[in-house]
Amino acid sequence: MPKPTTVRDYIRTIPDFPHEGILFRDVTTLFADPRGFRMAIDQMLHPYAGLNIDKVVGLEARGFILGGAIAHQLSVGFVPIRKKGKLPGKTLSQDYKLEYGEATVEIHDDVISEGESILLVDDLLATGGTAEAGIKLVEKLGGNILSCAFIVDLPDLGGRKRLEGMGMDVHALCT
Ligand code: IMP
Repeated sequence: MPKPTTVRDYIRTIPDFPHEGILFRDVTTLFADPRGFRMAIDQMLHPYAGLNIDKVVGLEARGFILGGAIAHQLSVGFVPIRKKGKLPGKTLSQDYKLEYGEATVEIHDDVISEGESILLVDDLLATGGTAEAGIKLVEKLGGNILSCAFIVDLPDLGGRKRLEGMGMDVHALCT
């Protein structure tokens, strides 16, 4: 097999996960490779050089891995958005639609101050429903989303259009 040279080369595709007919883009192979992981973090940070970011917000669960590394690199704090029932303190909740049914994500209600500049991070943008729920939580707390950063954008699922339609700046390393 040729040596991986781009972020895309490190991403594995698993057919029929979590359901038959789904092609799952597995970024754990990218995270597991020291060169791949560093390349991904460096490239995700690239568009924001010189810009003011107060906090990084990561979406459960792979957004924690990326968001933690990005926050460390920027010397700013990291805030998790978690699935319902996981955060111990007082939270704000946001419901959103899944392919089948609904889900809820939560954020601690005291982790973002009015006017803070926020970078929202996740591994993959599909329909944009998860990211939109995260954006709403940050905005309810008074934060301003500077940008949303992903490794993978699946354009056929419309997430980028949906977020850009909300006025968001969206960056992804590959489609
Ligand atoms: P969306 O809400 O439809 O945009 O789906 C994005 C969310 O589902 C993100 O939190 C992703 O981590 C997860 N997700 C959906 N499809 C995949 C995939 O193929 N690989 C990895 N994560 C995925």
